[in-house]
Amino acid sequence: MAKELICRVALAVPLHKQFDYLLPAHLISENQHSLIGRRVIVPFGGGYRKQVGVITGLPETSDYAIDKLKAINDLLDHQPLLSDSLYQLLNWASVYYQHPFGDVFQQAIPTLLRKGKPATFNSKEYWQCIDKQMDTAPLSRAKKQLAAFDLLVKQDLPYETLKQRGVSRTTLNSLQEKHYIRSYQQLPSTNLTWAETTQTIEETPQLSTEQALAVTSVTQQLNHFKCYLLEGITGSGKTEVYLNILKAVLAEGQQALVVVPEIGLTPQTIKRFQARFDVPIYLKHSALNEQQQLETWLHAQQGSAAIIIGTRSAIFSDFKNLGVIILDEEHDASFKQQDSFRYHARDFAIKRASQLNIPILLGSATPAFESLNNALMGRYHHLQLTHRPGNARPPKNDLINLAGLPLKSGLSPQLITLMQQHLAKNNQVILFLNRRGYAPVLMCHECGWLAKCQRCDAFYTYHKSANYLHCHHCTATHPVPEQCHDCGSTNLNSTGVGTEQLEETLQQLFPDHPTVRIDRDNTRKKDSFNNYLNDINSGKYKILLGTQMLAKGHHFPDVTLVALVDVDGALFSNDFRASERLGQLFTQVAGRAGRAEKKGQVVLQTFHPEHNLLQELVNNGYADFSRSALTERRLAQLPPFSYQALIRAEALNATQAENFLKLCKQTLNQIADNNKVSERILILGPIPASMERRAGKYRFQLLIQSEQRVLVTKMLNTALAHFDKMPEGRKVRWSIDVDPIDF
Ligand code: ADP
Ligand code: ZN
Ligand code: ZN
Repeated sequence: MAKELICRVALAVPLHKQFDYLLPAHLISENQHSLIGRRVIVPFGGGYRKQVGVITGLPETSDYAIDKLKAINDLLDHQPLLSDSLYQLLNWASVYYQHPFGDVFQQAIPTLLRKGKPATFNSKEYWQCIDKQMDTAPLSRAKKQLAAFDLLVKQDLPYETLKQRGVSRTTLNSLQEKHYIRSYQQLPSTNLTWAETTQTIEETPQLSTEQALAVTSVTQQLNHFKCYLLEGITGSGKTEVYLNILKAVLAEGQQALVVVPEIGLTPQTIKRFQARFDVPIYLKHSALNEQQQLETWLHAQQGSAAIIIGTRSAIFSDFKNLGVIILDEEHDASFKQQDSFRYHARDFAIKRASQLNIPILLGSATPAFESLNNALMGRYHHLQLTHRPGNARPPKNDLINLAGLPLKSGLSPQLITLMQQHLAKNNQVILFLNRRGYAPVLMCHECGWLAKCQRCDAFYTYHKSANYLHCHHCTATHPVPEQCHDCGSTNLNSTGVGTEQLEETLQQLFPDHPTVRIDRDNTRKKDSFNNYLNDINSGKYKILLGTQMLAKGHHFPDVTLVALVDVDGALFSNDFRASERLGQLFTQVAGRAGRAEKKGQVVLQTFHPEHNLLQELVNNGYADFSRSALTERRLAQLPPFSYQALIRAEALNATQAENFLKLCKQTLNQIADNNKVSERILILGPIPASMERRAGKYRFQLLIQSEQRVLVTKMLNTALAHFDKMPEGRKVRWSIDVDPIDF
């Protein structure tokens, strides 16, 4: 009879330590060697609270007396939940991002598995025809039933699919009563036959020389790690390159992972994948319910998914036989998770590819400076697409100097005239303004008082149609005051322009050209964004007004004029990444113009037309701009020429937050001294965060910087144990952000 075992268990708790438990003899089976990586249910904390954890080790002895150790309640998996390679990589991520392994592990798996559900498929309700030849004449008046029957004549279908195609439960029940169809339960198919069948169903356009070169660079060296940066101007056919690489990988019977910033925003791209390949494609995104999440995950792990297209967290999918990773719009900030486990999906994906020894392709019209630098230094293989296929030509760029011009909700007379010209030719126009709401501030015109959020160092945004003030930083709302808080005057007016106000003005200026506004305020509802896209493409709207959402990857063939209404804020920001983001935004927005046969025009309004950054962007484009901006970064020793980590602390009491970080700094300096690396590491701060007060809390930060990445990792790893023990740390909320992108 086996003896009980000590197991080290990682739990999803915010503590940088793991816990020892006893595995009772009756739970131990023969195959002990595979205990590591299996999930368990354990008692944790007071009372009878149960937690799902993962076994990470089988220590011989524990720091605690054996008789004090609690027993594991249940052992959940028959084998390690994840492949060994993924498990190892999560361990690396836990160390690199200074985040507890238990939580890393939990964030990497589907919600149902986090809750302790088995990693198996549930059977599904399928429907089939009882007799396909059955006379359908009696159904001729029941159109819905007839349509449902016709669908099922072709193949048996799960209820979910029928529902998606508009077949209701009532329709199915009626058909069942009339003995046309019946239901049965079946497990989802996990067969791997896709790997052996003809996969490409749509003809591929003739590739340009540059495209063909990019494709063969990758496909010549499958089963070999290399990171490729595909730098291709907007509309140059990057997606076509991805599709051709996938084709080669699928033909080898290997799976593919495609990571995109936001699935809801790229339905057109997804449709292209589905139209091209007759293989099982699964989408992984936050709108899936828990069951769908689990199924998608299982299909990837068991190999019955050929392609997974997903957002950030899709990089944690486990694959049976992954052949390539493609990361589209690799510069996108959404690839960095901004809370708890602050990983960067791009960096994790590159590690993953390296470990699996497969190629990874990063694609963008506006590469992140990190990636670009790696490509220029020869660490990545640099592929370029420099022109658009067919007749599509790059747009013409212009700056409009706003100084001294009479503006209508931010629009200059020149821009209004240009809009008239483009609209008169029955083309569409995009106006870009990255500010939601009616106006960014409400101001008292007697004394200058500004309506400020009581919980943040930020002004309320005025939303006119809903008639309230809204803080975009803590989501507080407030009724619109009748009077000034300071002087009591009723002369309150909004200043500045948001999308809501611009929309109102556009309707007055262009009553015959319908305007649509696309921002987070009016696309919250499911499908509303998609419906807008359809209405835009059908020509229902002529003027498209929007925030950043409009900049992402869409193809609007009739748009010939794109205008950036106001970007000056980014020119004078104290965030060193602001200029990089402006360059990306300008280029991406500009990329919406003239994507088809028609030549496009891009206009940027500014009070600072002489600014060298704008000049470089507008006259020479992102490629030149980014290379000279990189030189500036090098001179300033900023990333990517150094590596950073931030320790953030927040508390209701400012002194507590600041003091904790001062102690952290002492600890770090001590460690640096002991290891004789003080010269090579910079510890700056603590300083207040750029918004010092947010949602009622005071926020401070400490910056650690070095030219050697491994120094930052090692210092923090050593320091963490000390931070955890500091009593001052219990009074504040603190966190570590490795490779931060937001300050
Ligand atoms: P990107 O992903 O770089 O924005 P896409 O792959 O979407 O570019 O291509 C832009 C447009 O050009 C699409 O309509 C696409 O079908 C078309 N296209 C891409 N490659 C070719 C080609 N080799 N020949 C003809 N049309 C192409
Ligand atoms: Zn006042
Ligand atoms: Zn607020």
